[in-house]
Order: sequence, then structure tokens, then C-alpha cells
Amino acid sequence: MSSAAGRFAPSPTGELHVGNLRTGLLAWLFARSTGRRFLLRMEDLDRVRSGAESAQLRDLAAIGLDWDGGIVRQSERGDLYLEAIARLRNAGLVYECFCTRREVAEAASAPHAPPGAYPGTCRHQTEEQRARRRRERPAALRLRAQVDEFTVTDELHGSYTSAVDDLVLLRNDGVPSYNLAVVLDDGLQGIDQVVRGDDLLSSAPRQAYLGSLLGLPPVRYAHVPLALNTAGQRLAKRDGAVTLPDLAAVGLDAAAVRTLILASLGLPGTLDDALAVFDPARIPREPWIFDARKST
Ligand code: GLU
Repeated sequence: MSSAAGRFAPSPTGELHVGNLRTGLLAWLFARSTGRRFLLRMEDLDRVRSGAESAQLRDLAAIGLDWDGGIVRQSERGDLYLEAIARLRNAGLVYECFCTRREVAEAASAPHAPPGAYPGTCRHQTEEQRARRRRERPAALRLRAQVDEFTVTDELHGSYTSAVDDLVLLRNDGVPSYNLAVVLDDGLQGIDQVVRGDDLLSSAPRQAYLGSLLGLPPVRYAHVPLALNTAGQRLAKRDGAVTLPDLAAVGLDAAAVRTLILASLGLPGTLDDALAVFDPARIPREPWIFDARKST
């Protein structure tokens, strides 16, 4: 097996639903079909629900996925994130930001601002202004981006370019940001293949740019379609029987759910058979509409 690796990196905020399991299964197929290791990482810097990690691991194993090595938890890696921020800071690539959420939202909705991007309000403050604001609220740390956009290569979306803004590295409550942690961990764990939901596609260029500043090798992305409910919204717990325990209660065991997920990908019902014929080019490009009422 090569030293290259793919991964699945859920946030332990609750139970995985069939859409999350489908993304995990795809990440596994991508990794295993290319001889990569498959790593699991818990993105537990924020909003953790007690018991969620073990439930998620139980369900991934129940549909037949296996992984290499132990579970990496972001909550145990704080020093690595702070060290990376310090390196960027020493390179002059970090500044303090005192904006409230509301100020960011207001500035970002100004005419001509790229949607959702931080407009750089605190980027040009003088030391005097900063000293004054420090007395009012703790600062977040932002990246002083040197580019406006960046391009990544995605297995499903081809060459994809989007805006890079001055993203948060350290939140003002002292917690490292998701963007920093995900990029650093992928790099430090030797992950060169990132398979995840396509809701994160627009974040990939700014993350890849941050990775390049940290001296990390580029990764290859595959942003896969999400599962939606019948109203076209992102699938969620409120949609009914969408988790393995709920589906088991209505008569679908884990093997049956795996078959359902594989069928949604046009793949045969066992992992071995699916692996043998898996072809990224043939993954459906549309979201998977999951009708919880009709799954039984
Ligand atoms: N932890 C993120 C989530 O569960 C995924 C991040 C990633 O795969 O890069 O949405």
C-alpha cells in the first residue's frame, strides 16, 4: 500500500445520516480503489455532541468500511494549529481582526463585495487603532491573503477557481478555525486525496492556497453530490428515518442501507463488487434525493 492517503473527516455533532454515510463510502471507494490508506479524523473543535463520535464510528463500521490507524481528533492537536499560525505570523501573513459577526455580515453584503468574503476591514488598521480595539474585545486572527483567487483540480468538477479572502485562522474565543485545522491536518497526515460533500467545493481554493503558504503538498479533490430530501433541501434528521438506527427500526439493516447507497451510485451491493467496478467518472453528478418514507 502506498503512503498516500484519503480520508473521511466528520464533525461529531450528531449521528451520521445516509447522505453522510454515502460520502464516507465514496471516500473509502476513492481511497481503496487507488491503493491509498484510508484515514478517519474527527473534526471536534466545535459543537461536539457527547456520544456522537462512537455512534459515527459504529455506523461506518456497520456498513463495512475499515480504516487505517487510530482516530485523529482535532481537539488533541491544538499545539500544531497554534504553531502553524505562529509561522504564518512570523512571515507577516496574519493580522488581528476585531469585527463582530454583524460587522462582517454588513460589510460583506456591500455592493461589489464577493459573496460571503471578508472585505478586509481590519487589514489596514494602525497599531493605535488596534490597541484601542483590543480593550473592547479579543481579536480573531486572519490570514493576510496575497491573492484574490486560487485554482484547484477536482475529479468531478475539473479545474475550479474561486475567491480567496482573508480567512479566519484563530477565532476570537481562541479556537483554531475549521479552515486552518482541515488544511494542516490533511497535510500533516499525508492526505493527498480529499473526498467530501460538494457544499465545500467553494472553500477548496482558499484552503489549497492556505496549504501552499504552509508549504504543504497540493491535494487532489473530489467534491461529491449531497443527499437531499424530497423538497430539495439538504437531508437532515427531521426528514424521518435517515440514520442507521432509525432505518433499522423500520426494517432496513446496515447491509440493506449499504446496498441502497451503492445502488444510488449505480454500483453493485457489496463493497468488494463495488470496488472492482468503481469509476469516478461514472458517479452521478446530481444530488441524491432520499425519500425517507419510501426507503422501506
Ligand atoms: N468536518 C467537515 C464536515 O463534517 C468536513 C470537512 C472536510 O471534509 O474537509 O462537514
